[in-house]
Amino acid sequence: MGTSNQVGPGVPDGIDPAADSRATYDYVSDDVQRPGLVSDLEERIEGDVRFDEYSRQLYATDASAYEVLPVGVVFPQSTADVASVVEYCAAREIPVLPRGGGTSLAGQTVNEAVVLDFTRYMDSVLETDPDAARARVQAGTYIGDMNAAFAEHDLKFAPDPAYGDKSAVAGAIGNNSTGSHSLKYGKTDAYVESCEVVLADGTVTEFGEVTLSELKDRADPDGDLEAQIHAEVARILDEKTDTIDEVFPDLKRNVSGYNLDRLVEEAEDGSVNLARLLAGSEGTLAIITEAEVSLEAVPETKSIALLAYEDLIDAMEDVSIILEHDPSALEVLDDTLLELAGKTEEFGPLVAEMVPEGTGAMLLVEFYADSDEEGKQKVADLIADRVPDGESERDPSEGASEITDDPHFAFHAQEAHADDERKRFWKLRKSGNPILLGRTTDEKHISFIEDTAVPPENLPEYVADFQDLLEDVGTFAAFYAHAGPGCLHIRPLVNTKTTEGMEQFEAIAEGATDLVVEYGGSVSGEHGDGRARSQFNRKLYGDDLWETFEELKTAFDPDWLLNPGNICGDHDMTENLRFSPEYDFELGFDPVLEWDNDNGMQGMVELCHGCGGCRGPQDTTGGVMCPTFRASEEEITSTRGRANMLRQAMSGDLPEDVTDEEFMTEVLDLCVGCKGCAKDCPSEVDMAKLKAEVTHQYHQEHGSSLRDKIFANVDRLFPMGSALAPLSNYAQRLPGRRAIQEKVLGIARERDFPTFYRETFVDWFAGHEPQVSAAEADRKVLLFPDSFSNYNRPQAGKAAVRVLEAAGVHVDVPNDVTDSGRAANSKGFLDKAGEHARENVDALAPRVEDGWDVVSVEPSVAVMFQLDYLDLLSGPDVETVANNTYGIFEYLDTHGLVDDLDVTAADRPLTYHGHCHQKAIKKDHYTENVLETAGFTVDALDSSCCGMAGSFGYEAEHYSLSQSMADILLDQVRDSSGERVIAPGASCRHQIGEHEQASDDPPHPVEVLAENLDG
Ligand SMILES: Cc1cc2nc3c(=O)[nH]c(=O)nc-3n(C[C@H](O)[C@H](O)[C@H](O)COP(=O)(O)OP(=O)(O)OC[C@H]3O[C@@H](n4cnc5c(N)ncnc54)[C@H](O)[C@@H]3O)c2cc1C
Ligand code: SF4
Ligand code: SF4
Repeated sequence: MGTSNQVGPGVPDGIDPAADSRATYDYVSDDVQRPGLVSDLEERIEGDVRFDEYSRQLYATDASAYEVLPVGVVFPQSTADVASVVEYCAAREIPVLPRGGGTSLAGQTVNEAVVLDFTRYMDSVLETDPDAARARVQAGTYIGDMNAAFAEHDLKFAPDPAYGDKSAVAGAIGNNSTGSHSLKYGKTDAYVESCEVVLADGTVTEFGEVTLSELKDRADPDGDLEAQIHAEVARILDEKTDTIDEVFPDLKRNVSGYNLDRLVEEAEDGSVNLARLLAGSEGTLAIITEAEVSLEAVPETKSIALLAYEDLIDAMEDVSIILEHDPSALEVLDDTLLELAGKTEEFGPLVAEMVPEGTGAMLLVEFYADSDEEGKQKVADLIADRVPDGESERDPSEGASEITDDPHFAFHAQEAHADDERKRFWKLRKSGNPILLGRTTDEKHISFIEDTAVPPENLPEYVADFQDLLEDVGTFAAFYAHAGPGCLHIRPLVNTKTTEGMEQFEAIAEGATDLVVEYGGSVSGEHGDGRARSQFNRKLYGDDLWETFEELKTAFDPDWLLNPGNICGDHDMTENLRFSPEYDFELGFDPVLEWDNDNGMQGMVELCHGCGGCRGPQDTTGGVMCPTFRASEEEITSTRGRANMLRQAMSGDLPEDVTDEEFMTEVLDLCVGCKGCAKDCPSEVDMAKLKAEVTHQYHQEHGSSLRDKIFANVDRLFPMGSALAPLSNYAQRLPGRRAIQEKVLGIARERDFPTFYRETFVDWFAGHEPQVSAAEADRKVLLFPDSFSNYNRPQAGKAAVRVLEAAGVHVDVPNDVTDSGRAANSKGFLDKAGEHARENVDALAPRVEDGWDVVSVEPSVAVMFQLDYLDLLSGPDVETVANNTYGIFEYLDTHGLVDDLDVTAADRPLTYHGHCHQKAIKKDHYTENVLETAGFTVDALDSSCCGMAGSFGYEAEHYSLSQSMADILLDQVRDSSGERVIAPGASCRHQIGEHEQASDDPPHPVEVLAENLDG
């Protein structure tokens, strides 16, 4: 191997936020089961051992419909750790389950076993050899991180499961994963060269390619485990090759059963690779600790055609014909999906723009190309062939319209060549998931037959029969995704909480299996067997091969201790469901917020489906969700962890009441309320709102601390700080101040308080001569004097006045309003927040009715009016205020006021860190728009929460986690092309200012705009 380049995301700077002695959290609960087992394992290994109730519940689910409590969880640090655990468990007949990101959809990562989570410590790229296009990686390395490491060599790990940035390489091997580009690349097995593995008895060995004679040489049915495995593989080749050839479906996509067809195919050339036999084995044969993988060149460019059809069956008819054009991806979207997407705020405009009238289905056809010209040519030829009278950017090649001699089906075509255009096309294709997974009803589009596959030429009949099957059982599904290789995503709507729903669930699974058998397909073309599909392998492969699977399993794992039950085991698809007729749920209190979704707060608690989207690293996943997981890499600090624990507690799986002290500290306390999940989670799980509701209840039952009261009452304290300034600022320099603030108030000794100004923004405005009178202005703004801008940074408010007036707006600052209630809301004092909301709405609504708009400089306050007030209050007046409130840049951009400003933009490029709350309601882009229109160069960071999050970063026990979050942001700041940081959020400015040890916090962007106004 070539260069050694240790790359792995790890916890930022290797810091464990919980290692701070002040951190009162330890990510585990007090209730530890099997303490003897724990101490035995702890003695043997370097990694972490967790057998407490919380950790077990956290690993009881994955992205599937199933839930099984594991024995415990271990985070190994090395191959030796893995071997020790396996050996120890084997001696005591305790099952073991290896796990990556836990994004499996069929239940293969939940079991009554000791779970080995590889993603925490064993997550590095060990070596890369660009010349040989090979790399050696640890089992828990995310595919996204691998590809980021290979990018400098223009190489990539080719299989591209949709959640590759949250999926570990060993998970991809375990499921034999692939993605939209399987037409080009096949499945993961094609890229596995060798694997270091731990066998069922704890033996460590390397599996790779061996000739058939070497295989036989190593085979000994009476030898050690490795020799027995070789003997069984040799026997299967000797005795079962014909059956395997005959029975295995002829598909590009089949991941059901063991990978015996690949074994037989390789043997024809005189060698086999046992590492590839592990592909798709779902952790049931051996445990992978390292893998050597081969890499592919990143394609130069791509081009896409989007074809519209009147009917889904028409589109299906066209699939095998289009395959003759050699596309890199061929994906389908049906009318059910397009219709649902069209009704959403996010995808509605895209559907309106891109879906022609009369469309019953669309095919997205992508081509790889070495140049733009080549890509355009491929698209032109496809359109000439498949769309009568279709036009394209480039003339088709001669004879292109006769490439195939089949009847034409598509009635409309669009094409995309530039990167951003292609992204829009793919966005439409991927619109399905959020819509299907966002239902808060008891009926859910669960995954259980969501990746069946048939040969593409059989798709038309298969889809028609599948539609009939769903109609017969009284439900429906969208049909979408990988039509090219014949693997469709189909998620019927069923309610497994009812007996009737369970009957539907079983009938569909049985019916789908019959259909795939009839059409030469497979029950799983992508996601694996797990609990949902293992039982159907007998029907798919017949008794003979089922027994061969059993024999192979026994050879590798004589006592069936590695992830037992999967592939050829005894899992029953109707058992261990997360939601079953026996499921019971009790919220335990009356919520005070408005929950305007189906099933109210319960619907939100049950919404997370475990996809693991909230476990993506900042660099590869981007977005806001979930900053606390990114900083700590602990499942309990991901949105998924919190959502699972809430649901498990409320449905009786955890003994705790959710307002129990320990539950609050370990599960909810570390959510910083950034609202990132409300936008970035495909189901829009709103954990910030759930936390506010539960925290409010906690205060009702247990009271609140002095510190919480202080932070919730900034509206009373800030005026005092301001009245006493500059004394209040000097007080910060008093000796012993830091120790006292930490000891008495629990505020981290490292933190400085914000500076208070004697002359507040409101004071200044009282003496300000209006530059634009109400009579001469087209627009009138009530600039809300939020507590932060008013007392701590009046220059931001002043700058806003200057900019608005320069844009010809009449500005007033209302004097009959109170603090927004943001701080009280964040700390779960919802009564107080509601009172503030009421007072402000009463004061502002009449003036808004009169034609005034409300504008806020502080983003979190704008969002409080726009979003949180609607949760706290109801009625037309609150809606009027919410609908007419803006962040300052949103206001300038929405009303086209930037053109009225005379700005000479500064030369220094800006680095912009936006506010999470504005990002959550998709209103953060306005700042960049305005500044760039005004002539500034802006590098808008794809950043998450800065870690301050209101008062969170001030709190002593949260200081270290806050720092870890800040580290991620500050790395982005340092890598930015900008030279001056700007941030609209008061907390973010303070966090960045403290870290950069600047003489002043970075400015609000409106200050920079005002500074550069001419005149
Ligand atoms: C929204 C969504 C979209 C998805 N899209 C795709 C897609 O496009 N294509 C696709 O193929 N899949 C897809 N999946 C399924 C899943 O993401 C992939 O199969 C993924 O590769 C699994 O990786 P993981 O790290 O989460 O593995 P896990 O789910 O943790 O594990 C997968 C299997 O591998 C085994 N395993 C894990 N580590 C080891 C090890 N060290 N040794 C041996 N066995 C091990 C496990 O026991 C398990 O059986 C999707 C899932 C979701 C939720
Ligand atoms: S919170 Fe959202 S992103 Fe995270 S696992 Fe649940 S559904 Fe997926
Ligand atoms: S609100 Fe933020 S910190 Fe809390 S779960 Fe959602 S993304 Fe994570």
